[in-house]
Formats: sequence, structure tokens, C-alpha cells
Amino acid sequence: MPRHVSQVIQTVQTLEGGGFPVRRPFPTPQCSQVDPFLLLDHMGPKDWLPGEAIGAPDHPHRGFETVTYLLSGEMEHKDSQGNYGKLTPGDVQWMTAGAGVVHSEMPTVEFRESGGVTNGFQIWVNLPAKLKLTPPRYQDTPAAQIPEVDLDGEGSRVRIIAGTVGDTTAVIDTHTPITFLHVTLQPGAAFTHAVPPSQNAMAYVISGSGQFGENAQTAAAGQLAVFANDAETVTASALPDALLDLLVLAGEPLNEPVVRYGPFVMNTREEILQAFQDYQSGKMGVIS
Ligand code: MN
Repeated sequence: MPRHVSQVIQTVQTLEGGGFPVRRPFPTPQCSQVDPFLLLDHMGPKDWLPGEAIGAPDHPHRGFETVTYLLSGEMEHKDSQGNYGKLTPGDVQWMTAGAGVVHSEMPTVEFRESGGVTNGFQIWVNLPAKLKLTPPRYQDTPAAQIPEVDLDGEGSRVRIIAGTVGDTTAVIDTHTPITFLHVTLQPGAAFTHAVPPSQNAMAYVISGSGQFGENAQTAAAGQLAVFANDAETVTASALPDALLDLLVLAGEPLNEPVVRYGPFVMNTREEILQAFQDYQSGKMGVIS
């Protein structure tokens, strides 16, 4: 028997970074986090006119990881560790901020000039107390390196950004057990994935609509189905007449206090104050 869906969360529309639109299932008043996931932002889809695309200029992070997955558009990332990465559709950047980095997340110059559609995700993965000050790490992963599994020979597939499906494991390494899958189901197709009951799990609908879990809960584009921890598999089914595109996320909850303030997520208020001090005194570096 698969898990039940305990909650379907509607996204809140808001602006992020320099003012680009995101659809956000959490953190919102309805749901502060799905431990260990702190934030899920669907960036766009937004059609920019030439010269208009906006990103997130230089800002710091400490205490967690930021994951960017692009479906459409072009972004470039720079950070105070000297890393530079260009993201094109299908690419993933998994950045462990850990002890602290300053980074920028901007459209490429070419994309900004031409305009076009930005569509993608940013997900924040919390780090346990013992890893909050781990050295920063940057895993820039081009689309071609992300394993893809054919589910039925008829066009349904899963891209494995983190975790394992069958005997195929992601190339991205995570500090705690994390599953991050992009699943595309043809009309009428179904996907079942094993997740230990100790882990929290959810499915975000990118487009289409489908039925989730033992209770066949319906969720549509822009909604997040959160699974109960009551069984060992999660399920998603496309309706007979439409494609279903979704993200499946799962992780072992940290069960630690979360104190967040803007770009910093720590366990105590003192650690947040320390993060501000360290950022302001330049200890997180600058982008050269
Ligand atoms: Mn950032």
C-alpha cells in the first residue's frame, strides 16, 4: 500500500531576488518547511522581453544548500569561492553554502539581451547542526550528466538529480539522504517510488494534473502534495487525457530547531547574529 497524501498546498505568488516572480508552496503561512527542505521556489515560467530579465545580485548564504534546476532560460552563477557556472535547460547547480558564501544568480548577458522564457526551480536543503559550518561545495552538473531512466518505453521518464531509482544513482552527492526526481508521465502512466517511512516526501506538479498516494488525491499545476509517513512508497498517476510533469522530493528530517533570517538558516538566534557579523566583516568573501 502506498502512502496517503496528508496535505495539498497551494503556491503563493511572490517576488524574489531583484524582483523576479516565483510560485512558492513553502515557506508560507500554511507551511513553514518540509524538513529537511526549507524552501521550494518555482521560478516562472516568465516570458521576459529583451533587456528585462532579472536575477539575484550578490548576496550571502550560510547553514544550508541551494539547489537550482533550470527547465528553460539561461543563468550564470558566480561566488566568493571563485566558482563560475552557466546554467542552461536541464542543468543543475547544487551549492553547499555551509560556513558561508556570497554568490550572484543572474540571467546571462545573452539571455537578457534576447529575452525569452525563464522556468526552473530553487530548493533550499537544510544542513544538520554538525554540518552548518562545513566548507562550501559547488556541484555544477550539466544536463548530459544527469541520469535519465525510461519508465515504460512510451515516453514516461525520470531524471535523477539526487537519489536512486532502480539501479541508477544520481551523480550529485548530498550531505544527508535526499531524493530529487523530475518525473514526466504520459497520459494514463503511473510512477511508484520507494521512500523509507522515516523520510518526508512530496510531489510538486509542474504542469498537468494527477492523482497521488493511496487516497488518489488530485493535485494540479502549482500545487504540492505532501505525503504522510505511513507507508514505504509514494505514487503519482497522470490522468488518462493529459501529460503530468512533476518533481518528487524526499529527505530524512533533521528534527532540529530552525532559526532563519533572510539568507541565513541556523539553529539559534545567536548563530544568526554571528552570521551577520561574519558577513559584514567580510569573512564570507566577495565575488571578484
Ligand atoms: Mn542565493
